Amino acid sequence: MTETLLINGNWQASSTGASIPVLNPADGSIIAQMAVASADDVNAAVAAARKAFPIWAELNGRERATIMHEAARLYREKYLDESVRLLTMENGKPLNDSIKECKYTADVIDFYADESRRITGTHFSGDVGPTHSFMLKQPVGVVAAIVPWNFPVDLLAWKIGPGLAAGCTFVIKPSEETPLASALLIQAFLDAGLPPGVLNIVTGAGEVGAMLVQHPDVDKIAFTGSVPTGQWIGEQAGRQLKRVTLELGGSAPFIVCRDANLDLAIPESMRRAFSHTGQICISVNRIFVQRHVYDEFVQRFAERAHALRVAANGLEEPNADMGPMINVKAIEKVQQHVDDARSGGAKVLVGGERLRGEEYNPQGVFYPPTVLADATPQMRVMQEETFGPVAPIAPFDTLDDAIHLANSTPYGLAAYLYTQDLDSAFYASRRLNFGGIGINVNDITDIRGSFGGMKQSGIGRELGEPGLDAYLEHKHIRYRYQAPRQES
Ligand code: NAD
Repeated sequence: MTETLLINGNWQASSTGASIPVLNPADGSIIAQMAVASADDVNAAVAAARKAFPIWAELNGRERATIMHEAARLYREKYLDESVRLLTMENGKPLNDSIKECKYTADVIDFYADESRRITGTHFSGDVGPTHSFMLKQPVGVVAAIVPWNFPVDLLAWKIGPGLAAGCTFVIKPSEETPLASALLIQAFLDAGLPPGVLNIVTGAGEVGAMLVQHPDVDKIAFTGSVPTGQWIGEQAGRQLKRVTLELGGSAPFIVCRDANLDLAIPESMRRAFSHTGQICISVNRIFVQRHVYDEFVQRFAERAHALRVAANGLEEPNADMGPMINVKAIEKVQQHVDDARSGGAKVLVGGERLRGEEYNPQGVFYPPTVLADATPQMRVMQEETFGPVAPIAPFDTLDDAIHLANSTPYGLAAYLYTQDLDSAFYASRRLNFGGIGINVNDITDIRGSFGGMKQSGIGRELGEPGLDAYLEHKHIRYRYQAPRQES
């Protein structure tokens, strides 16, 4: 199968015939061949999206909502099982995590389908002369949606859900690691009667994404990925003053106060540190525990981490805690961070070396849950995004110290605070420089709330009302009226 490009409603191979394999990180096997889009393919996809734009934008909200709801229904009914299976194969996450992602995807489409009918404007009387102003919201235009591999289906829905609701058309660039599961979501839209050209896909590596970023007929770039790629996209977009939403990396702190409920804080910090093998932008990267409860926390955390199960094959162990990492490069970065911490004096209590062994395929990319005690702020693992299953733990004395430590990286995506004291919760929430803060909860995601980063974690927000507004231009129409002639 090399027909992974979708241009104007037709699945097709690259015009040059170029393709690259999609690998299963659990065993290195080739799942499929993926087309590598050429410049001609990218141009054709953008042209199709441009041509479809007035057609889609001119539909009313009710008409757009009908197609979107139908696509969500068809995705759940016809494609969910296969999409879930492909997601586990191309990405590695255990089956139940894939089910969760794909179901949430359909929910996001349904949510924004409803929002499509709620896009309204406002109006007001002018305050100079006899004028009346109308504020319209109109779709931004043709959007390039560039998606990473860690949540390839869900994070696509976070873009096309609000964008389609607003009336935008898309050229999608999936990650080269994970182009398969999300294609079925798009097929559901085609089945639902989406006009050709509204959603197009160009597959390939970063070069294909770069062509979209630089394309003069793309109005907006909606990107989720790493900080370096986001910085480059920001620079390029600035030259053409394109609109951007940049959802970038993070280094989430998890602060445990002395009054926290440890029975909650320990399993929840663990889940958020190791779920999806630590490859989530809001994964817990740094755990700060108040000194009074530090020893107890570390001991109990390490015991539980030791018992986590890494699936050799996520299809056969749907409930496992973790699967493989995405690729060898990712595992090398993790090892560098662990080695750096070890040489800086951190104690490796659990894990710390690549996971091998009879039950794991030697071509698989496995790393065990790794717990580092007595981490210090200078260590790479405390400064950079490790994006792997590593939980460094450090003590703190006062809440101000913890807030200072938490804020001491260039990132600002998510932070977590566990305390039973409301004053501490409010005090810290206002001072933590992060786009999302979880108080006694280890996930900041809610369809109706915003999601996005401060500082180098990005620009703009997804989900909720801001996530829709990101696909709308606000237009001010000012009308001067006069008293009509009184003709009898
Ligand atoms: P990445 O930046 O390497 O790639 C992301 C996407 O951009 C891929 O589709 C890739 O092919 C494409 N790309 C690469 N170079 C490009 C270029 N020059 N121009 C245009 N597109 C280009 O990131 P990744 O490794 O796939 O994803 C992991 C990163 O994503 C982590 O840093 C993680 O924190 C971040 N992330 C952020 C969020 C969020 O919401 N803030 C969510 C998930 C992941």
